[in-house]
Amino acid sequence: MRLSEDWRAGERRWRVVGAGSAGAGRPGASRTFDARSGARYARAMRAAADGLLSSLLTEIRACRLCEPSLPLGARPVLVADPRASILLAGQAPGTKVHASGVPWDDASGRRLREWLSVTPAEFYDASRFAIVPMGFCYPGRGASGDLPPRPECRETWHPRLFPLLPGLRVRLLIGHYAQSWHLGDQARSTLTETVAAWRDHGPDTFPLPHPSPRNQRWFIKNPWFSAELIPELRKAVRAAM
Ligand code: SF4
Repeated sequence: MRLSEDWRAGERRWRVVGAGSAGAGRPGASRTFDARSGARYARAMRAAADGLLSSLLTEIRACRLCEPSLPLGARPVLVADPRASILLAGQAPGTKVHASGVPWDDASGRRLREWLSVTPAEFYDASRFAIVPMGFCYPGRGASGDLPPRPECRETWHPRLFPLLPGLRVRLLIGHYAQSWHLGDQARSTLTETVAAWRDHGPDTFPLPHPSPRNQRWFIKNPWFSAELIPELRKAVRAAM
C-alpha cells in the first residue's frame, strides 16, 4: 500500500457513521453507530492510537539504526501528533536543526513560514502541523550539499508512522525525495517539472522546492511559483488549520 493510501486508510478508520440501520446488530451486518456510541468509539480509537503513536515516537527517538553512517551521530527530529491536519514532508535536518533539535529552525524555515503565511506559534503547533522529513537525522555533507536522507529511515519508520496520523488533510512535499516517496509514479523526472504540475496532484497536495536561500535563482527563473502556487497553498493551509 502506498504511503498516501496508508494515511487515507487511517483517516477512514476514524470515521464513524452517525445513524443506526435496520441491519445493525445482525451477524454479518455492517456495524453502524448512533451519535453517542459513535463518539465513544471514536474516543476509544483516538486513545488507542495516541498510545501507539507515543510508543512509536519513543522508539524513533531512541533509534540508532544508521548511526555509523551519520557524521554527527543520531538525533531524530520530527513532530507528530494525531490531531495534525497538515503534513510537512521535507528532506532531512541540516546541521543547525541537528544542533537545536527544532525542525525548520533556520533561514529556510523562515521562508517556508512566509510561503504558508503562518506565525512561528502556528507552525510549531503540533495539533496543526506534522513535520515528518524523509530522514530524521542529519545525514552529512557531500560534494554538492547535504547527502540524501538515509533510506533506512523511511523504510523502517514511515510505514508505521503515517497510519497513526489520521487527521492529515493537506500534504506539503518539499524537495525531490519527499515527492518521489509520497507521489510515487506521479512524480515527474525533475523537481521543477513535478512542482510545475502541482495542479495535477489535487487541491490537498503541494509539491514544493526547498525554501533554502541558496535556491534564489530557481525562484527568479520560475515566477509562476510565487504568483500562482503560493496563493493557493496559503488558502489550503489556512482552511486546514
Ligand atoms: S536517520 Fe532514521 S534510521 Fe537513521 S538513526 Fe536517525 S532515526 Fe534512525
